[in-house]
Amino acid sequence: MPGQPGIIVMIYLLIIISGAVFGSFFNVCISRIPLKKSIIFPSSSCPHCHQEIKPYNNIPIISYLLLKGRCRDCGNKIDIHYFLVELLTPILLILLFLRLDSHFSLVFFKYAVFISFGIIVFFIDLHNYIIPDTLSLPLIGVGLLVSFLPGTDVSFITAGLSSVIFFLLFLFVAYFFQKLTGKESLGGGDIKLIAGIGAFLGLEGTLFTVLFSSMLALVILLIVNHDPKKQFPLGPFLITGSFVYILAGHKLVGLYLNLFSV
Ligand SMILES: [Zn+2]
Repeated sequence: MPGQPGIIVMIYLLIIISGAVFGSFFNVCISRIPLKKSIIFPSSSCPHCHQEIKPYNNIPIISYLLLKGRCRDCGNKIDIHYFLVELLTPILLILLFLRLDSHFSLVFFKYAVFISFGIIVFFIDLHNYIIPDTLSLPLIGVGLLVSFLPGTDVSFITAGLSSVIFFLLFLFVAYFFQKLTGKESLGGGDIKLIAGIGAFLGLEGTLFTVLFSSMLALVILLIVNHDPKKQFPLGPFLITGSFVYILAGHKLVGLYLNLFSV
């Protein structure tokens, strides 16, 4: 990044602060979208006593630490995910900025949008076992729209193709798994989510996401000794896989290919 160190520090501060503020808004989305409530009105309130949170108690990251994760009014514990989202959003945006050679470009904003959707989908699916259409469908639309713009990294043909191919692949797997076992494997939400990931990441990125997230899910299932009768959200794994690809995929794919080159 050209320029004085002062400017660089300012840019990083700007990303951190706006990331934390966006994270705070994503928390509102995570708790209200599954309930089909407005994400704009009313202002933030405690999930327990529903007392409105005063602006000076609603400073991202800092308020959670100062109030030790409890509501100022009723003293009930506030779920750690509120803090995690406010912390994770700026961290991921800084990693993205570094990954793109500390440069603001269309590609940076494209993946910043993807990461934003991803964080919200991750926590909604984790808590509620659903991926709302209000998130997955715009994700497909925005991914395809951006692929038309000059300076993007995935062309419209690739974005459209990978969106359709992985949508059909997931649909096929879901259909045959249901036929063979009578159980649901992939939900409609997962199928639309992978179409959105396809539109943003293209063929290689989406294939990486599917392979990485399947392996990760398998490891976690074995570690936690998951009861097969219980529901298991796949969305958080798909989102994790796609984030890993965006931030480090080029390195990991390179390492993998190197294993086979003599
Ligand atoms: Zn409260």
